[in-house]
Amino acid sequence: MGSVKDYFSSLGTGITSLLKGMGVTGKEFLTPKVTESYPDDRKTIQYAAPRFRAKLVLKYDAEGHHKCIACGICQRNCPNGTISLTTKMVDLPDGKKKRKLDAYMYDLGSCTFCELCVTTCPQNALEFSNDFEQAVFTRSMLVEKLNYLPEPAEPAPAPKPAEAPKPAEAPKAPEAPAQSNVAEK
Ligand code: SF4
Ligand code: SF4
Repeated sequence: MGSVKDYFSSLGTGITSLLKGMGVTGKEFLTPKVTESYPDDRKTIQYAAPRFRAKLVLKYDAEGHHKCIACGICQRNCPNGTISLTTKMVDLPDGKKKRKLDAYMYDLGSCTFCELCVTTCPQNALEFSNDFEQAVFTRSMLVEKLNYLPEPAEPAPAPKPAEAPKPAEAPKAPEAPAQSNVAEK
C-alpha cells in the first residue's frame, strides 16, 4: 500500500516540476530576443561598453586636427615603452621655429591598458576607443602610427595693424645767434 502512495506522490512531484519548467520556458518564449547576430550586424550594434579600453587613439576634431603638442609626457609615463614619439622642427610663416609631432607610434601588443598616458596628457589629446576587433596575423601589425592624418598647414600670421601717419613736423624757428660768454673788452 505504501508503494502505491509513494508512486502517486512522486508522480505529483514530477508533474509539478514539469509545470514549473514549462512556465519558465513559456516566459522566455515571450521575452524580447537579445541575441546579437555578430558579425553580420557589427555596424549597428554596440558590443562593448563605451568605457572599454580596446586601443589608444589620438582625438581628432571635425577639421582633422589633434591636440598633441609632442611634449612627451605620455611616453615618459608609460611603464613599458608602448609609446614612441618622434618630433620635428618646422618653420612657421612668421619666421619662427616650432617643435611638432612627427610620428606617434603605439604598440598595442605591449599595452597594459593602464590609461596612465590618457590621464596625464596635459592637452587631453588621447583616449581609448572601444573598438575591440583588433585581431591581426603578425605582432608587427599591432604597431600603429596614431597621427595618421596629414598635418594641416600653420595659419598665416595676422597682419600687423597699419601705423597711423605721423603728424607733419612744425617748421623749426630760426636759431638765435649764440651769445658769447666772453665780455667784449
Ligand atoms: S599625447 Fe599628450 S602627453 Fe603625449 S606628447 Fe601629445 S600632448 Fe604630450
Ligand atoms: S595605457 Fe598604459 S601601457 Fe598602454 S600606452 Fe598608455 S601608459 Fe602605456
